[in-house]
Amino acid sequence: RAKESGRDRFQFYTPCMREAEPQRLTLLEDMRVGLERGEFRLDYQPQIDLETGRITGVEALVRWDHPELGTLMPGAFIPLAEDSGLITNLGQWVMWEACRQNKEWAEAGLPPVRVGVNVSARQFREENFIDQVREALKMTGLNPANLELEITESLIIQNKSHAVPVMQELRSLGVKLAIDDFGTGYSSLSALGSFPLTKLKIDRTFISMMDTQTQQRFIARAIVSLGHDMGLSVIAEGVETAEQLELLKSFGCDEAQGYHLGRPMPAESIAQMLMCPAAVAPGKAVHAG
Ligand code: C2E
Ligand code: MG
Ligand code: MG
Ligand code: MG
Repeated sequence: RAKESGRDRFQFYTPCMREAEPQRLTLLEDMRVGLERGEFRLDYQPQIDLETGRITGVEALVRWDHPELGTLMPGAFIPLAEDSGLITNLGQWVMWEACRQNKEWAEAGLPPVRVGVNVSARQFREENFIDQVREALKMTGLNPANLELEITESLIIQNKSHAVPVMQELRSLGVKLAIDDFGTGYSSLSALGSFPLTKLKIDRTFISMMDTQTQQRFIARAIVSLGHDMGLSVIAEGVETAEQLELLKSFGCDEAQGYHLGRPMPAESIAQMLMCPAAVAPGKAVHAG
């Protein structure tokens, strides 16, 4: 990917790049403009408590309603935002909007939920990242306990000496810290204990193969035990079938998230789900709109 060569690519404009590069630059410029014009929005995917069947949280997932290209998913622009540094602005907007929305639900008298916000590596490394989080909480008045930051294993492993104090400070603000896509990027499990985490999110690759592959089932079950032994809460992502859900329940997994339980949906649909919790029995598929 462009990450390694990012800096040089804009300086050395060789003929072979003429095809791809203007597109990249255009999309980047579009993103700058789009941020100002408010073309970005958040969908929210429910996270369900496996004991009660209630929504306990939602994950904020960014979408870009591009004026010409239509709705773009994060995979189509997050890497570019990371490479260019624009992730700082985008990430700050996402953090603020997610907190604002969650506060709005609370003020409407709906049952309190956590909102999960994905934090990219570059954003996490920003010098003022903690200030960004503090500011978003202060400006919106959201209870810090209802904000959960999702970071990846590789992010904290790459630079442990930087990550640990940042994470500690975030925890002292009162926010929760989840490891996203757990099990995909880990080199040394022994290091896990040194991070002040609150939750593990089992990566969807283990969940999707659980029905058919006994090995994946063992891994998912082991991650649940590992998480619990370490005093962490465990959520499974990418739950698509009733069978997967039943297995996870039998493992004692705390929460689940996935198409089987609810797709990413607009804030209004979440408000509706929060209003009538009976609609969210595990095993019953919930759809947006
Ligand atoms: P993620 O954080 O692991 O988010 C889960 C992704 O899996 C989402 O894709 C979600 O729509 C999808 N998903 C949920 N349930 C299922 C399921 O049952 N089956 C399948 N196949 N997929 C499911 P999405 O929205 O395209 O986001 C992709 C990735 O983009 C996210 O992965 C996250 O890493 C990143 N991302 C999304 N929003 C943001 C953001 O605001 N900031 C940053 N830095 N990254 C973001
Ligand atoms: Mg995530
Ligand atoms: Mg994930
Ligand atoms: Mg994932």
